[in-house]
Amino acid sequence: MTSYYAVFGQPIAHSLSPRIHAAFGEQNGIRIDYRAIEAGRADFPRALHEFAASGGRGANVTLPLKEDAAAACVSLSARVQRCGSVNTLLRDGDGWYGDSTDGAGLLGDLRLRHGFDPQGRRILLLGAGGAARAAAFALADAGAKELVIANRTHERAEALAGGLHAAQALAWSDLAQAGAFDLVVNATAAGHTGTGFALPAALFAGVPTLAYDLSYGTAAQPFLAAAREAGATQAVDGLGMLVEQAAEAFALWHKRRPDTDAVYAVLRR
Ligand code: NAP
Repeated sequence: MTSYYAVFGQPIAHSLSPRIHAAFGEQNGIRIDYRAIEAGRADFPRALHEFAASGGRGANVTLPLKEDAAAACVSLSARVQRCGSVNTLLRDGDGWYGDSTDGAGLLGDLRLRHGFDPQGRRILLLGAGGAARAAAFALADAGAKELVIANRTHERAEALAGGLHAAQALAWSDLAQAGAFDLVVNATAAGHTGTGFALPAALFAGVPTLAYDLSYGTAAQPFLAAAREAGATQAVDGLGMLVEQAAEAFALWHKRRPDTDAVYAVLRR
């Protein structure tokens, strides 16, 4: 019997998730109907309700719905209770169980594909939205020595840093005085809005720095170009994270961990 899954977001036409889950299903001999459903914040509760009524078993949510998704759940995983952001939903009886696989996806990609272990490292996180929250808790739990968080709306960076060990908020205008970092993560949605990026060279001075944009494709280009220009040793997009977080969601839904390398290689080509 085919089971129904979907990714909700706005915009959603660009999403690679349907291809990723179809490939994981094929690899594991599971027939999956996984669709992309366009929904903004106002439409999301109704769209999710209709999806459940039509037999939806699991869903991913992306921009701009991660915090709304938490509110739609009757139960939440321990990691969501800490970070407050949901990207994966599992139908549980008459309600939704919410989990967040973004943090594990980021750590998986950093370690597996980029040989980067956050343990003992100095890390700058740009952004304080849903994905940034998941990333912040995952990086802190992985043993980051120092996690500096800067966000356009500074109060959100302060609120996020306040709940984390070894984290502090920094005003965006003070980035040039923050010193150099081992890892600079862009978890803002700026690349989707065509906003340009300028990064001070001081962030990359004197230490090998990995610059990592959570987004991929054209949305990642402004940050990656700015990071290279400012002196980052390596600048990578979040395609690997996308595949790793999808594998975590797949494991939650189907109780099997898919092989990510083959799917990543196809998407990268
Ligand atoms: P979100 O909850 O809507 O948060 C958006 C963040 O971006 C907020 O911190 C916001 O700042 C900031 N922002 C938006 N426009 C900006 C601009 N023009 N200049 C500077 N900051 C700006 O979104 P999200 O779900 O966290 O997603 C963030 C990014 O991560 C997106 O690019 C998304 O595609 C990517 N992502 C990738 C993966 C993956 O698997 N690779 C997974 C999740 C997310 P304010 O607080 O000031 O509004």
